[in-house]
Amino acid sequence: MNRMVILGGAESGVGAAVLAKVKGFDVFLSDNGSIKEEYIKTLREWDIPFEQGGHTESLILNADEVVKSPGIPSTAPMVRKLTEQGTHIISEIEFAARYDSAKKVCITGSNGKTTTTSIIYYLLQNAGLNVGLGGNIGKSYAMQVATEKHDYYVLEISSFQLDNCYDFRPDIAIITNITPDHLDRYDYNFENYIRAKFRITQNLRPEDCFIFDSDDAITIEHLNKIVLQAKMLPFTQKTEVKQGAFLRDDKIVVRYEQSESEIYLKELALGGRHNIYNSMAAALAAKAAGIDNEVIRNSLKTFKAVEHRLEPVLSVGGVLYINDSKATNVDAAWYALECQTKPVVWIVGGKDKGNDYSVLDELVKDKVKAIVCMGVDNSKIHAAFEEIVGSDRIKDTLSAEEAVKAAAEFAEAGDVVLLSPCCASFDLFKNYEDRGEKFKEAVRRL
Ligand code: ADP
Repeated sequence: MNRMVILGGAESGVGAAVLAKVKGFDVFLSDNGSIKEEYIKTLREWDIPFEQGGHTESLILNADEVVKSPGIPSTAPMVRKLTEQGTHIISEIEFAARYDSAKKVCITGSNGKTTTTSIIYYLLQNAGLNVGLGGNIGKSYAMQVATEKHDYYVLEISSFQLDNCYDFRPDIAIITNITPDHLDRYDYNFENYIRAKFRITQNLRPEDCFIFDSDDAITIEHLNKIVLQAKMLPFTQKTEVKQGAFLRDDKIVVRYEQSESEIYLKELALGGRHNIYNSMAAALAAKAAGIDNEVIRNSLKTFKAVEHRLEPVLSVGGVLYINDSKATNVDAAWYALECQTKPVVWIVGGKDKGNDYSVLDELVKDKVKAIVCMGVDNSKIHAAFEEIVGSDRIKDTLSAEEAVKAAAEFAEAGDVVLLSPCCASFDLFKNYEDRGEKFKEAVRRL
């Protein structure tokens, strides 16, 4: 019996362990930290041996193959040892796809993955297809392959999961856009990060589709360097395209093979220029999956915003509070600021990932009346914006409670308080969801 070792005992690792068990492997799961109670319960239910709080070399180095959780970097000591002795290391996605013949729509990119993935899932469900949602969202793909049966999957895939994909092949692949993010995991080399994203295209065949943002210079520059067999479906807000999605007057036009359909911008459920891109990508994926124009139009009309993404929370004293906690990089915050039409008190900061804030200068000049920094080290934010907003209109805080109070003091009726942090949350919060929840609680207490 082949020995499959799983490193990391969270959603993807536990899913992979269950799938390995179902497929008859001698499986062992090891986590350097502590495993959550709900996952321990699952491992026990499936009778899967595991350890936590450290790695026992003798139980790991004898693996025939290893599934590594995306959260573990390739520089972790145990991963290094496995690599040195030549053990094949794969991601949960790569592993699960070996046992799955469903059609797969896979979404990666720097921003807009969850939104685009959720719209496509909604569209496919509305079309009456038997579809699973997985990857970085909800239940792991591997767990679903082990315990459910779907004809379609819509999978949100991060660059970390793609790092250890080799034979994995989507039927429809989407790169929403590429901007610098997570550079700490890619030796601070942007090219490495771009290549990781493009791994989603590495096995595409002529009958598969590749959907991409042709307004994104970085995507186009990389596409010019490689050869792809797939059907190319660009989406753009700048020019007309023969195949793909573009703007004509106040409509999105979707051209796929011989058909052309239109969707009024004013009918889109999600506002903001970035959501036009996300809606275009989703509509193209739906067309490629053979879905009716009417279902596509209705779904884009009725889709509900995903939590923590430009989510309106509450109006207090005429001030609207918006939770965009998921904006963990500069580009996401750019779009959040760009679509604001009222004066903004901006809550920003957290764990900086090598950000260059200068692209936000113009927007901050035009739209931001005060800045509340919410992070342990706010020096880069001060350096970037103090001169623009004025030193009396920028304040440091160390919690959501403090930040919301400070923002409320700056704000007047008719303003917007926007949490769109540009940064990761780990300095003060468990994750971006925790940051968004704490923000919303603080707003409700005002
Ligand atoms: P991801 O899953 O890639 O992090 P989300 O859909 O969760 O993307 O959105 C993350 C943040 O990025 C949100 O705060 C949103 O305002 C912004 N955003 C969403 N779509 C786009 C896009 N296409 N381009 C730029 N920013 C976007």
